[in-house]
Amino acid sequence: MDAEITIIGAGVVGLAIAEKVSEEHNNIFLVEKHLSFGQETSSRNSEVIHAGIYYTKDSLKARLCIEGKKLLYDYCRRFEVPFNNCGKLIVASSENEIPVIEGIRQSAIGNGLDDLEVLEREQISEMEPNIFALKALYSPSTGIVDTHSLMKQYETNSINNGCQIVYGSEVTGIKRIDGGYEITLLDADKKNYSFTSRIVINSAGLTSDKISEMVGINDDNLKILFCKGEYFRVNPPKNRLVGRLIYPVPHPNMEGIGIHVTIDMGGGVKLGPDVKYLESNVFDYKLTVSKQEAFFKSAKKFLPFLEFDDLAPEMAGIRPKIQKPGEPQRDFYIEEESRRGYPGFINLIGMESPGLTSSISIAKYVNNLINYTI
Ligand SMILES: Cc1cc2nc3c(=O)[nH]c(=O)nc-3n(C[C@H](O)[C@H](O)[C@H](O)COP(=O)(O)OP(=O)(O)OC[C@H]3O[C@@H](n4cnc5c(N)ncnc54)[C@H](O)[C@@H]3O)c2cc1C
Repeated sequence: MDAEITIIGAGVVGLAIAEKVSEEHNNIFLVEKHLSFGQETSSRNSEVIHAGIYYTKDSLKARLCIEGKKLLYDYCRRFEVPFNNCGKLIVASSENEIPVIEGIRQSAIGNGLDDLEVLEREQISEMEPNIFALKALYSPSTGIVDTHSLMKQYETNSINNGCQIVYGSEVTGIKRIDGGYEITLLDADKKNYSFTSRIVINSAGLTSDKISEMVGINDDNLKILFCKGEYFRVNPPKNRLVGRLIYPVPHPNMEGIGIHVTIDMGGGVKLGPDVKYLESNVFDYKLTVSKQEAFFKSAKKFLPFLEFDDLAPEMAGIRPKIQKPGEPQRDFYIEEESRRGYPGFINLIGMESPGLTSSISIAKYVNNLINYTI
């Protein structure tokens, strides 16, 4: 075999996997169709280090988020990746939302998160004097991270461990062969070439279902639906009026966690993302200026200082959802596909939030799958 392990996709998850597996294995390739890392979902998100509050008990999302959060904070400290353990408030802005807060706390306790605190109005105003909330749930372990610096660090460590990163090369075909896989690439000069690899890791984000289909796995349950989320920025000087992440209580089936307030490492504040399944899987990052009214109304409930003109369209991202509209929450799909007849082929599909938070624990999990396969 030309390669021992090939990872497809240099987003935050593929890069974290590259770093982890290259600590223990040799002859590793990371193949990315763009000319640099993180050009898709990994650079179009809220950059939140999630606590692990909302995910179904014992799901991979819950387990990998809680483990990944701790590993990520340790990693950021060790490699000086900018982060801020700023904390988050989930706010009830009407009487009927108050019981929801207690429900969230109970399910979080079930996930092993025992540091959440219910805050009354006075305590909230001490923490965030400019917001309105009748009651809030405070999550001290939530934070934010500079995702670009994080990906750069994963890339640097992978290269230092001997991993070869091939940018500008799109995987266009994968064939099962004796003892591994033949992978066909289309390079930046539009030339095709092929190489062989014993293990293949599909970390291709929004097109990971297509990569899986290339090898021969056709499963309706693994079809990705593009689900767009748009953000509006809060213009200065009002961006200085909040110091933490502020979330409304979430939608019951967790299609999204509500238009929330996120802060970033540069002092910026944005509202979003909203949730809109696209009619077809197109990379549509266009901003809808007409949504400003809806964003404004939604956030005004807990940000009373906000005026319509304080907002401006900021950016959009696309979630790689395997959960269909109206369905209950789906888990990450991370499987070594021996049972479908593809040994050594590892699929990661539906890697939506909390994929950034969980990137290091996902990498550990995938590395264990490899060690189990060998
Ligand atoms: C609006 C939004 C907000 C979010 N907020 C958060 C948050 O606050 N916290 C959190 O933890 N998570 C968040 N997430 C989720 C997080 O962004 C993702 O889980 C994470 O970025 C997924 O990383 P990835 O590496 O799997 O995918 P990607 O970043 O999409 O990377 C996949 C890579 O594969 C490459 N690729 C695809 N096909 C091929 C091919 N054929 N050949 C070669 N390369 C290929 C792509 O070019 C891409 O670079 C959010 C997501 C969205 C959309």
